[in-house]
Amino acid sequence: MSNHYGKLYVVATPIGNLADISFRAIETLKQVDLIAAEDTRHVKLLLQHYGINNKVLSFHQHNEEKVAESLLEKLRSGVSVALVSDAGTPLLSDPGMPLVRKVKDAGLAVVPIPGACALIAALSAAGLPVTQFSFEGFLPRTSSARKDFFTEKLTSQTTWVFYESCHRILAALKDMVAILPPDRQVVIARELTKLHETIVKTNLANAVELVAQDENMRKGEFVVIVEGAAKVTKKDDALSPEQISILAVLMRECSIKTAVELAVKITGARKKLLYQAALDLEKQD
Ligand code: SAM
Repeated sequence: MSNHYGKLYVVATPIGNLADISFRAIETLKQVDLIAAEDTRHVKLLLQHYGINNKVLSFHQHNEEKVAESLLEKLRSGVSVALVSDAGTPLLSDPGMPLVRKVKDAGLAVVPIPGACALIAALSAAGLPVTQFSFEGFLPRTSSARKDFFTEKLTSQTTWVFYESCHRILAALKDMVAILPPDRQVVIARELTKLHETIVKTNLANAVELVAQDENMRKGEFVVIVEGAAKVTKKDDALSPEQISILAVLMRECSIKTAVELAVKITGARKKLLYQAALDLEKQD
């Protein structure tokens, strides 16, 4: 690679507390020729705070394909560029993917300048397993699409994480408890690094109640972390909460007989146990 090409620096910025930025990020923002920012006014507050006086160009989800092309040309002509989003690490539920892909495909250097990320901050303080996890970004906006999503996640045995806004946090939790077992552990991480930071670990049923009853728990920005399903073995002589939830979801869509047959295939649990559970569920309705 010719070293007269410019480099693209992907720079993480704070997710609330302005002190959460690395020395290297500040140096990079000072030294690059150009800063490509999701919201120019927003980044200027950060730049002002650190006495950085640099050129800023607007780069957001509505213009990123087009601007990515012209930024690539600039990089080719030797201009160095820092990419920043409004908060945290660019590309993580933020713009930047088309630009990074184009620059990589063109064989030019992309340099990460790591730092704050709401996902990682929340996981680091959650107290749920993090050896393996899946990040789901933002959930679908409609209740039925969210329920489909939760049904897919029902048997996932690793921790999973999603981002949510204050407008949908309660609706998302209500949809979740309609599908997932109420005793599943969840962590609600709200306003991380800010004045009203709250990190609550509880079971799903309590989480819904807490958010429904406390208006403050519906304000700000949220990361929700969900415990994975317990491992189940075929030989178990009692059904797990996940197996019962799967059966309940199936019973909403088909006859008891079909629901039980499908549940045997999906969960590997014994038919006799599932059939008895189906009768119990039917009595409860
Ligand atoms: N790129 C960012 C990152 O690295 O975390 C995420 C950007 S995404 C557009 C914004 C979402 O991230 C918010 O709606 C919220 O779900 C989550 N988020 C960002 N800052 C947060 C904070 N301080 N506390 C909790 N969640 C936050």
